[in-house]
Amino acid sequence: MNHALLQNVMQLNIEGYRIRGKDMMFAQKNGFSSTEAMLILTIIGVISSTAIPEFIEIVSSAEDNVCKMNMASINTQIEIYRILNDRYPELELILNNKNLFPDGAPKCPAGGSFELDQYTHRVRCSIHGALNEEKN
Ligand SMILES: [Zn+2]
Repeated sequence: MNHALLQNVMQLNIEGYRIRGKDMMFAQKNGFSSTEAMLILTIIGVISSTAIPEFIEIVSSAEDNVCKMNMASINTQIEIYRILNDRYPELELILNNKNLFPDGAPKCPAGGSFELDQYTHRVRCSIHGALNEEKN
């Protein structure tokens, strides 16, 4: 192979052409080869197998934190009501009070429902439990 031919072959490779056989026929590359497609699918598989569980864990942790903040906010209003009125309120009285929560009652972001513990007079979520107890 002389120098000029070698230079042509290199130029063709750089421009994305594939050299076939001894007669130096070339064809334009269309799309991915099956090996390249398999490699890309493998990389996507590895990334998604680690990223998706991580994402679900982050969302779950964020929902847990927002729910606890909402319960703390409701508990504070319950305690303020008790100090002002010398008795504990019904939960609905606090949640439906537009002066306390002008943007609407705080909710559990995971769809849990709040109920008032009759002994501790603190709110608890049907999914996340009460503030001072561990999630089961
Ligand atoms: Zn909750």
